[in-house]
Amino acid sequence: MLVLGFESSCDETGVAMVQTREHGVPTLLSHALFSQIEMHQAYGGVVPELASRDHIRRVLPLTQEVLEASGRSLAEVDVVAYTRGPGLAGALLVGAGVACAMAAALGKPVLGVHHLEGHLLSPFLSEDPPEFPFVALLVSGGHTQLMRVDGVGRYEMLGESIDDAAGEAFDKSAKLMGLAYPGGPLLARMAEEGDPKAYALPRPLLHSGNLDFSFAGLKTAVLVQSQKIMAAADVAQFEDLPHGVRCDLAASTQAAIVEVLVKKSLTALKQTGMSRLVVAGGVGANRNLRAQLNAECAKRKVRVHYPEMHLCTDNGAMIAMAAAMRLQSGLQAATTHYAFDVKPRWPLDMI
Ligand code: ATP
Ligand code: MG
Ligand code: FE
Repeated sequence: MLVLGFESSCDETGVAMVQTREHGVPTLLSHALFSQIEMHQAYGGVVPELASRDHIRRVLPLTQEVLEASGRSLAEVDVVAYTRGPGLAGALLVGAGVACAMAAALGKPVLGVHHLEGHLLSPFLSEDPPEFPFVALLVSGGHTQLMRVDGVGRYEMLGESIDDAAGEAFDKSAKLMGLAYPGGPLLARMAEEGDPKAYALPRPLLHSGNLDFSFAGLKTAVLVQSQKIMAAADVAQFEDLPHGVRCDLAASTQAAIVEVLVKKSLTALKQTGMSRLVVAGGVGANRNLRAQLNAECAKRKVRVHYPEMHLCTDNGAMIAMAAAMRLQSGLQAATTHYAFDVKPRWPLDMI
């Protein structure tokens, strides 16, 4: 089956073509992506209405690109997939509307995909895909979850953030440091030059005895710490501090987030007795997180799988892949019922 997939849950428009196979992992034929980050940077965050309108502008040219690169025609598509949620309602509606209209015009069925299932299965797009079962650490801009994954569609929540997500903690701390939206990757780059032990920041819920996370308090701690540093240095703006000092605070912030993610992942592996960890979502691109997970997992003979760097954040390939894996496993059939709804809030263990 040839699956054409659309992603439009937030500020990335993604389109991709995936081919299911009789056995093994479906094959990605082509994908195209447009990130709206530059447009939203002026506002310091995503402006939902601007996002929806830009998805409308990008989606058909990207589809054309994907068709050309895949060497297949629209008439050959068997199923049209789209992100049904969670995400921004208006942005989701664009992908859902385009997918359902296209499918109706072609007389082909549609399949609504869970965005987080897309992230979760994105490591299957890499050269060395994981095997089930595994523990998944899903760390994105909106979610931080540990899950037990026994197969496609078999997800059991082990723990999650009770407030901010890890990506949010990166972005909000970065904003306090005067970095542009989304500050996560910029903070991570500064952290590479800093001392992670320079400032003592809290590790929330590290010893909570469960697998939940909490990151909301961290940004307050970063704010208080930065105010102290600025007062001591007698400067009014964080940007006026010496480069080395800023890098030290960035490194200390990253260390606080990464330590909690690593320790809780190891606890989840121990509790479930699993020997495979899959990391997915935007924060999965963090090099420090990868290095520490690799080191700790190597000691315990646990294999770790990541998505390719460019597929950690939102993309269409993961949506087409999730649809293809659901179809291939016989878990879900596509439908010719074209009336669509989107689910801006939708827990992954409810699918
Ligand atoms: P969700 O999938 O939960 O709806 P989202 O789609 O916005 O949220 P993703 O696209 O998976 O989230 O990831 C974006 C997040 O990843 C942002 O918060 C961004 O700062 C963070 N991020 C990306 N690269 C890095 C990095 N190298 N280090 C830390 N954080 C990063
Ligand atoms: Mg994004
Ligand atoms: Fe996402």
